[in-house]
Amino acid sequence: MISADIAKNELGISFAEHIINGELTGSADERIIDVVAPRDRGVMGAAAQGGIADVERAVNAARRAFPAWRDMAPRARGRLLAKIADELEENAERIARILSLENGNALRTQSRGELAFAVDVFRYFGGLASETKGEQIPLSSNTLDYSRREPYGVVGAIIPWNAPVQLGSMKIAPAIATGNTVVLKTAEDAPFAILEVAKICQKHLPAGVVNVVHGKGAETGEALINNPNVDKISFTGSTAVGTRILEAAAPRVVPVTLELGGKNPQIVFPDADEDWAVDAALLGMRFSRQSQSCTAGSRLFVHRTIFDSFLEKFTAKAAEMKVGDPLEETTDIGAIVNQKQFDRVCGFIDEGLKVEGGRLLVGGLPPAVGPLAAGFFTQPTVFSQIDNSFNINRQEIFGPVAVAIPWDTEDEVIAMANDTHYGLSAYVYTRNLGAALRTAHRIDAGWIQVNQGGGQVLGQSYGGYKSSGMGREFSLEGMIDGYTQRKHISVNLNI
Ligand code: NAD
Repeated sequence: MISADIAKNELGISFAEHIINGELTGSADERIIDVVAPRDRGVMGAAAQGGIADVERAVNAARRAFPAWRDMAPRARGRLLAKIADELEENAERIARILSLENGNALRTQSRGELAFAVDVFRYFGGLASETKGEQIPLSSNTLDYSRREPYGVVGAIIPWNAPVQLGSMKIAPAIATGNTVVLKTAEDAPFAILEVAKICQKHLPAGVVNVVHGKGAETGEALINNPNVDKISFTGSTAVGTRILEAAAPRVVPVTLELGGKNPQIVFPDADEDWAVDAALLGMRFSRQSQSCTAGSRLFVHRTIFDSFLEKFTAKAAEMKVGDPLEETTDIGAIVNQKQFDRVCGFIDEGLKVEGGRLLVGGLPPAVGPLAAGFFTQPTVFSQIDNSFNINRQEIFGPVAVAIPWDTEDEVIAMANDTHYGLSAYVYTRNLGAALRTAHRIDAGWIQVNQGGGQVLGQSYGGYKSSGMGREFSLEGMIDGYTQRKHISVNLNI
């Protein structure tokens, strides 16, 4: 089934099986999907293509495993998560390399950090397993009224390709820490690295607690969200698919958590025309992950009085970032994940180039010849003179294309920042505390960073406003709200 070419890739991975009831298995009908390496467009392996039957097997395994897992003492569950964290840490470098090969993110700037984050995720939620406390309500001396937090049952989890290890771990760990079992559908472009994480889980967990199915959204994903034995859906991906998940969940009233897209503003105040703000805004733009990030700050609102000088520094630093083979240590920026995304990003760059009066400040269309033409490589690209109302400023590009827009007053910039159906994150740069916090309070988004541009940190209740999502993950509260339901018990003590 697997061609000789596929078996050759340097990391020794060639075929991503499903994991169902603790066992590695192909699809019932033996179908596979090719996985293409973004750095050279070559087929690096294949994954099992899951159909309805495979999803059903996985959900049934999760259902069978649920009662015993739910009834295990939470601290005992937590200790198993800690063991997973330890083994994941030992294997982090190997899995980070697999990740860079399959999704094109640079090893040094991205994949190693993603693995370190995933290790922390298992430790963090393992430690919180027994914090799913209920409450007692003092109604009278003769009654006992209390609430319990109980797991939902089988969690159907769906992840995208841009950070599969981080996002997959972010679903598995809080779900199982609270006593649920999981069926995780991987993204078709990046099944391998998260599969390695799930294989480690198998060594420490009873069979059926964590199951993995690969396949395409329209078939495998649909089979999962429509399966009547799935009790909770947790989805990270595009807003378009997120709305489809809500539709599918509605008839059965299945609870849903959605982490969706963003078109995030970065607001630079006149006093922030300095290197620290440039560095933070570059980080916020997520160039080092090809801006394939839901929190990429791609609308760069710079105060008119510093517009030219800030952008000169910003574009000079962006141009210095090295685009190249994701597995090379010197590479800052890897490759776009696949042909479809590559074409889409190029389409937006082309659109920017065609805007009348628009200016290209750095970057542009990818090189058509030379070593970078072999893979899906793009360069950091910044435009100016393109109004906030243009398509390029409204759609989530999910690629390294930013547009700089000048502003004069706080009211004006906040109105522009909020003029989007997204509301995931935003960035504000100024030493003026009042201006920073006024702005942070007035922006309609779930996460505002002031004078910094990094990624999410465990413990933050991260999630989106508006069409960027519903529910919160990354925190104790997110775990409790997202993966448990409250049961109230009223006892008459007179009997
Ligand atoms: P996508 O929505 O196309 O796919 C995400 C996952 O959903 C994949 O596994 C896919 O196979 C599956 N899927 C597709 N159609 C489905 C269907 N009908 N039913 C069930 N599952 C289906 O997104 P993508 O292109 O893989 O990822 C990029 C998107 O993810 C961006 O919009 C980005 O902003 C978003 N994202 C959000 C966050 C966040 O934390 N808010 C984090 C990472 C990525």
